[in-house]
Amino acid sequence: MTDSREVNPPDWSEVERVLIIMAHPDDPDFSCAGSAIQMARQGIEVTYMILTNGDKGNHNPLVTRHQLILMRKEEQRKAAALCGVKDVLFMDEEDGFLRPTPEIRKRVCREIRRIRPQIVICNSPDRYISGRGYINHPDHRNAGLIALEAIFPAADNPMFYPDLTNEGYPPHNISQLYISHGEEADVEVDISDDLELKIKAILCHESQFDDLEATEKRMREWGGEEQEDGSKRHFERFQQLDFRSRPRRGPRGDSKTSQESKS
Ligand SMILES: [Zn+2]
Repeated sequence: MTDSREVNPPDWSEVERVLIIMAHPDDPDFSCAGSAIQMARQGIEVTYMILTNGDKGNHNPLVTRHQLILMRKEEQRKAAALCGVKDVLFMDEEDGFLRPTPEIRKRVCREIRRIRPQIVICNSPDRYISGRGYINHPDHRNAGLIALEAIFPAADNPMFYPDLTNEGYPPHNISQLYISHGEEADVEVDISDDLELKIKAILCHESQFDDLEATEKRMREWGGEEQEDGSKRHFERFQQLDFRSRPRRGPRGDSKTSQESKS
């Protein structure tokens, strides 16, 4: 996080539905399960969309890719249920080869138009590396790109996918976009009181850990930021794009948003 922007708590007033678009089973739990728990507790309908089938996420030669796909879906469903998440959509792209193709963009756009979320949370599309010891998985970056390209210019534009409109999924504007691990985080959710449940959700992904106990211990020691009174608080932070104050497109497309004027 840089401190070039002011960081604020989230504004979830008037939010009824949230769609969380991530690359792999377990990504939502690591990135934003604490926020999902709080949203669900407030009565917001949270849906996870997992873009890949996770079939590369294990090195055990005794487990086939097909078995792994089934295991990981079950793990993700269990974790989502713990967090109060309403639904999990599996888009079943191949793990490790996620690309922003026109096909997946349309499939994601269809779900955005069907669910009609006010907030979308996604991966960062431009995070290639992290710190000095971690190459960001290319699926994470491409998942972010796919989400962005589905939202703009496609989801709210009737010229895109008229067949979806005919199917009963007309254009939809989201209000806010949260980019997890965005370069300039400006929204932070204090998840300290929900950390235990978040850890439980992460531990549902048993296929991803050789030693569950050690993982649990490590997660409790992880992160957390010391406060003035010596206590530790835990946060999930997002870079927010706020579309709420932008004018909407008119019937002839002559009411340009600031974003459209750049296109
Ligand atoms: Zn991942």
